[in-house]
Amino acid sequence: MSKIILITGGSDGIGAVTAQLAAEQGYIVCINYRQNHIAANKVVEAINVSGGQAYAFQADISSENEVVDMFAAIDAQVGRMTALVNNAGIIESQQKLVDMSAERLQKVFAVNVVGSFLCAREAIKRMSVRNGGNGGSIVNISSMASRLGSPFEYIDYAATKGAIDSMTVGLSKEVAEENIRVNVVRPGTIYTDIHGKAGEPARVERVKAFIPMKRGGQPDEVAKAILWLLSDDASYVTGATLDVAGGR
Ligand code: NAP
Repeated sequence: MSKIILITGGSDGIGAVTAQLAAEQGYIVCINYRQNHIAANKVVEAINVSGGQAYAFQADISSENEVVDMFAAIDAQVGRMTALVNNAGIIESQQKLVDMSAERLQKVFAVNVVGSFLCAREAIKRMSVRNGGNGGSIVNISSMASRLGSPFEYIDYAATKGAIDSMTVGLSKEVAEENIRVNVVRPGTIYTDIHGKAGEPARVERVKAFIPMKRGGQPDEVAKAILWLLSDDASYVTGATLDVAGGR
């Protein structure tokens, strides 16, 4: 049986490195992205050139129609999915709650929470042994922000990640008998462009003094944890939270 993985937000940062590592471990890799098709194609090409098999699918995960269409396209072009990494996520600019607009809150929750729920829903339909699937594994990407709360920066983002932690616990129990495992990885502060997109490209340098290991993490250090949770080496692990955060 082919191992087919979808990594949302697989065109950049942690998702892109996870895609490369998944290909090295024998997965047929589907990456999702929202708008940067150049970056998505670069990830796909790099995998295909090194002998793997990868495909890119554009979809805004906060749109139910786009998610449903993306999963249908994967069924048709690639096959039945066996693994999902719910990785796509956004941060808005640093602000206190007192200054946050409803528009901002709706956007962050729509992508980080609703988008992850929708992708999990569609993946389960395909993985569930009750639906004729072969089972599967889902890894949700949360953040240490869910525990720390991100005061004065983005407590909206932190709260979306709290929702992902709770969803993981509940969903893991809902689908355990359907041969689907669901776990969550909580990265700490990782060197990716997400910090620049939120207006502070050098954020890792500023906060690393507060990390017990006194450094930011690299995307591959998160990717290795994700791939382990997806693998058969973690066959009795479900509903678990794995912090990859330098001790924070
Ligand atoms: P990143 O470098 O900014 O990459 C984000 C990815 O998500 C891109 O591929 C982007 O595609 C995609 N994306 C954004 N909005 C989307 C949408 N609506 N629909 C589909 N795709 C969308 O981010 P990252 O730092 O690797 O973060 C990945 C995950 O790790 C996120 O969930 C983040 O919250 C979490 N995390 C990161 C850190 C960190 O320090 N970096 C720490 C803790 C947790 P486009 O470029 O095409 O928009």
